[in-house]
Amino acid sequence: MPNDDAGYPGFLFRSGAVRGTCDDPGLRGCAILGSLKPGSATTFRGRVLAPDATERTLTLIDDALLQLDDSGRFTSVGPAPPECAVEETWPGAVILPGFVDAHVHYPQTRVLGSASGPLLPWLQSTVFPEEARFAEADYALAVAEEFCEALIAQGTTLAAIYSSSHPSATDTLLATLDRRGLRGVTGVTLMDRGAPQNVLREAQEALTANAELHERWHERDGRLQLSVIPRFAISCSAALMRGAAEQAREHALLVQTHISENLDEITATAALFPDSGDYLAVYEDHGLASPRLVLAHCVHLTDDEWQRVANNDIAVAHCPDSNFFLGSGSMPLRRALDLGIRVGLGSDVGAGRTFSMRRVAAAAYDASLVVGEIVGPEELLWLATRGGAQALGQGEALGCLAPGFDADLSVVDVAGGLDKSALLDALTFRHDAGPVRATLVRGQVLKTLAGNVR
Ligand SMILES: [Zn+2]
Repeated sequence: MPNDDAGYPGFLFRSGAVRGTCDDPGLRGCAILGSLKPGSATTFRGRVLAPDATERTLTLIDDALLQLDDSGRFTSVGPAPPECAVEETWPGAVILPGFVDAHVHYPQTRVLGSASGPLLPWLQSTVFPEEARFAEADYALAVAEEFCEALIAQGTTLAAIYSSSHPSATDTLLATLDRRGLRGVTGVTLMDRGAPQNVLREAQEALTANAELHERWHERDGRLQLSVIPRFAISCSAALMRGAAEQAREHALLVQTHISENLDEITATAALFPDSGDYLAVYEDHGLASPRLVLAHCVHLTDDEWQRVANNDIAVAHCPDSNFFLGSGSMPLRRALDLGIRVGLGSDVGAGRTFSMRRVAAAAYDASLVVGEIVGPEELLWLATRGGAQALGQGEALGCLAPGFDADLSVVDVAGGLDKSALLDALTFRHDAGPVRATLVRGQVLKTLAGNVR
């Protein structure tokens, strides 16, 4: 008797290793699964929202069974069969892939919500003085713990993280991500001009430090990646950007930077790089434009720049809450999606006021209203999970609840009895009512500090 996949066409996944598990004579009703401990890394049961691999849609399975192998990858995902003996793992919750924060600043954790914008004055008065504190080892460690705690508390399992310019703080961040079981793509934030001396680092020294961190941490446990992060053109010399591009090419690393967030920033950039035709051309001219580049903001890109982002398969981190808070404007998300651009959502803490990717999705909805091209909750939750994984170049392993994918999960409390539309609305907009119940990477629940991690 085949599993009943009615209502879930094309989405009953079972790998060869477990094919027929629930169909085998003698195993009907998941008798074999009933012997497994519910909530273990092997089998979960519950309400699931599963992103499609390519279309920006989510499939609701009211009662799903998710089976994992010993390495924490899914072997099967589909509706639970009748009389399944496995108990619901998290009653009253919905299971989604782990959220992906495509743009966040670890050394801004403690200045979240500092209303000193717009962008350039905010950097000078709030951000650079705070980031200078990360020269102190104890401070860097304390904030790294708070930062990882905040990610776990909000169901985020993977983040693209700007560190400070300090190699020691970046090493501390990587060690903390590793110990807390999270995924991260990070590196030293490269800046050799345009900021106070105590957050600058000479180009070659900074790149050498990033290379050393790469040696130590890249691909650690398959969860951590080093990234090359020229902060933005204003704070980077031409030599630094060329060196960054070379390091990224040599090791096939993700490159992260900001672009066209604020009109004053665009004017200042044009003055610094008069030979480049526009802001994107600055990065193109220094070898940074490639499918491994993730551009944060893109609020004020020109038509031609948008087309070149699409043509070069550059990814975008959309940070609507930050854009509201600093008064930067609203990115035309629908337009980027229609161009086929890979887009993830970014909290951009500390200009963003929350680590919650659900709140960021809500802000993205508001931003889409502002520009007059609505992007609804289903697409936004897809972007906050599957879209982010793709934007960060990790779409082969992350962002789907399907065999072969890593079982990174966010489990969110949402009242039962909702149809799909109401459930998507609740996840996106009813933040007061639905806290994150559990956050898992490869099927393992990540502990919070309250769970005696310390
Ligand atoms: Zn940022």
